[in-house]
Amino acid sequence: DSGVRADSLDKHSNARWPRQNSLSMKEWDIPYDDVKIFEVIGAGRFGTVCRGSWHGAVAVKLLHVLPLSDDGSLLDTFKHEVSIFRKTRHENLVLFMGACMKPPRLAIVTSLCKGMTLYTHIHLRKDKFTANKSVLVAQQISQGMGYLHARGIIHKDLKTKNIFLESGKVVITDFGLFSVTKLCFGNNARGDSLGIPSGWLCYLAPEIIRALRPHASLLLPFSKATDIYAFGTVWYELLCGEFPFKGQPPESIIWQVGKGVKQSLANMQASRDIKLTDADEFKAQLLVSRL
Ligand code: ATP
Repeated sequence: DSGVRADSLDKHSNARWPRQNSLSMKEWDIPYDDVKIFEVIGAGRFGTVCRGSWHGAVAVKLLHVLPLSDDGSLLDTFKHEVSIFRKTRHENLVLFMGACMKPPRLAIVTSLCKGMTLYTHIHLRKDKFTANKSVLVAQQISQGMGYLHARGIIHKDLKTKNIFLESGKVVITDFGLFSVTKLCFGNNARGDSLGIPSGWLCYLAPEIIRALRPHASLLLPFSKATDIYAFGTVWYELLCGEFPFKGQPPESIIWQVGKGVKQSLANMQASRDIKLTDADEFKAQLLVSRL
């Protein structure tokens, strides 16, 4: 198992898949016909998630694969991302079970999350999270993310839609899938326009906002720090019940975040331990890495 770090994926996405690795990848290859696909749970930007059955209940994420490029780079990127997934085992991370790797049917098979996402709790049901409950949730997110980071894996798409709450237990999904999904997305972008999915901007750190260009999604400077910024947005949602920069147009958010302007915490009703000032930011990063 030669192992591939997520943060080095983009540089190698065009490299041919090493032979030894392709042998061990076979262990995770699930023939598409072996998976029973039931109803659609939901459709995201790049794939449709269905309830399925493969040795028990599973979630199957079917990727919307656009016409494949001849050099096989999409398939290589997909396999790289599967190689990240298969090395993750943590209580707060969704269980990866395997993948259907024969184009045009690319799919990821994971355990089926019960419960609802934090997004549903906070933004649709308007459930209130006490400070204590928020800390318990945030602590579990930090533990799952800390594990990913310790393994050199950057999530790249941490958001409340990708965090499930199952009877108080946090389960993080969708890590390591950003490149392949954005590769599809990149092909989808029209002309010089910058397609920004709604609800995505407020998770993007200033350095990513400043790097946004049409068709540049694979070159965005994701890092552990940008994951921590996204975690900050989740923390804000938990405490305030809304997104930072709520109701503001994308252009305004891009301009403010790119300039380093932050959402004001003046109206947030929380203790000082929770409302961190600029000077506390470094301490916060340390705190997150220790949790
Ligand atoms: P985006 O594409 O912008 O990331 P999304 O997170 O809503 O949006 P998907 O990740 O494709 O899109 O998920 C689609 C739906 O499937 C969502 O409602 C999500 O909560 C659900 N889902 C994803 N993974 C699982 C899982 N392992 N178990 C149960 N439901 C899941």
